[in-house]
Amino acid sequence: MSRLLLLAVATLPAHAVAQATEAVTPIALHCAHAFDARNGRMLDATTIVIAGDRIRSIAPGLDAPAGARVIDLAGLTCLPGLIDMHTHLTGETSAHDYEEGFRLNPADYALRSTVYAERTLMAGFTSVRDLGDTANVSIALRNAINQGIVRGPRIFTAGTAIATTGGHADPSNGRNAELVGDPGPKEGVINGVEDARKAVRQRYKDGADLIKITSTGGVLSYAKNGRNPQFTLEEIEAVTATARDYGFRVAAHAHGDEGIRRAVLGGVDSIEHGTFMSDATIALMKQHGTWYVPTISAGVFVADKAKTPGYYPDIVRPKALAVGPQIQATFARAWKAGVKIAFGTDAAVYPHGNNAHEFVLMVEAGMPAAAALQAATVRAAELLDQAETLGELAGGRAADVIAVAGDPLADVAAMETVAFVMKDGIVFKQDGKPLAR
Ligand SMILES: [Zn+2]
Repeated sequence: MSRLLLLAVATLPAHAVAQATEAVTPIALHCAHAFDARNGRMLDATTIVIAGDRIRSIAPGLDAPAGARVIDLAGLTCLPGLIDMHTHLTGETSAHDYEEGFRLNPADYALRSTVYAERTLMAGFTSVRDLGDTANVSIALRNAINQGIVRGPRIFTAGTAIATTGGHADPSNGRNAELVGDPGPKEGVINGVEDARKAVRQRYKDGADLIKITSTGGVLSYAKNGRNPQFTLEEIEAVTATARDYGFRVAAHAHGDEGIRRAVLGGVDSIEHGTFMSDATIALMKQHGTWYVPTISAGVFVADKAKTPGYYPDIVRPKALAVGPQIQATFARAWKAGVKIAFGTDAAVYPHGNNAHEFVLMVEAGMPAAAALQAATVRAAELLDQAETLGELAGGRAADVIAVAGDPLADVAAMETVAFVMKDGIVFKQDGKPLAR
């Protein structure tokens, strides 16, 4: 009996336990302005009351319930914690990436990931999707963050991505004959529908939160083609149908038009990058309600680095030069056409922590600042299937609140300097400085 009770307590969500065991002192955040992400407008002076790891209430004016600890964010604009829908927290760009792949072990990537995770959180990103790692390191990172061992954003991870042989996420690309092996569904390489099902089930077993496939070639893989279709429609359908059985959403990396088209027809939830999508495919995405996660930051960064001799291998360089400059224009077309857009950057391809520069690139391409902020809050929460929990400053939501100086609707570059970060009711950064542990 007592053992059963213990088990029942152990399965309560963390916030329920916190609320049950602590008589929490509420926190009242006094914000000079607050962003109403639902309606895309800026509110004047606002008080946000936090109880435990949840927002209790939000109201106009500067007030505080009796006994609350007031945090005065004078002159600052409060926003919901930001969400980046496309990161890889276990790695980061450098001219040594390719050579390091032969030397480093999962433990090396795990240690580095703790630094990248903390940098991401301090940049105001309180939640991310991780779309492909090495050896499921992102799953261990997510767990360590959830346990309070490591500082970082709330992670929703795909674990190891799924490719086809020689495809964008085949981990053995570019290896010599002795090292190349023959990776299968467990390692993230499938051929045919049986493999596709097994790979999804393996990720369920591994503890992933969603599924990532690479339905076309990609820029940074050691392979010639950056845009050819690399999954059959049947393989994609086998992935999405199996994913539904396990409550997974599916994100598809795709640059070339045919691979994007197949991914949309095959029922994926989001197209990542989408570089060479045609107008017909844009229309198809609208028809199917498929999300677009643009990652303009990555495109701009790789096009720039490709100019530095030796930064990328020769086989990668022409792809970076072709794909990079195209994404921002594609984003502009998709936005105008009315495709659903969620904010995502491909952090790792550029240095972690600079995620908010994507806002500047989105606005530069013609998206109003309010819509860009919505893409990283309410819209991202919707694609995450967390609309009830994340993405809004509203009662009952997770207490993820950030603040920046100035008015990001007037100058969205304000998002690049974050003064205050709270995640799950815990303050991690104040007055522009990370707090001591
Ligand atoms: Zn990526």
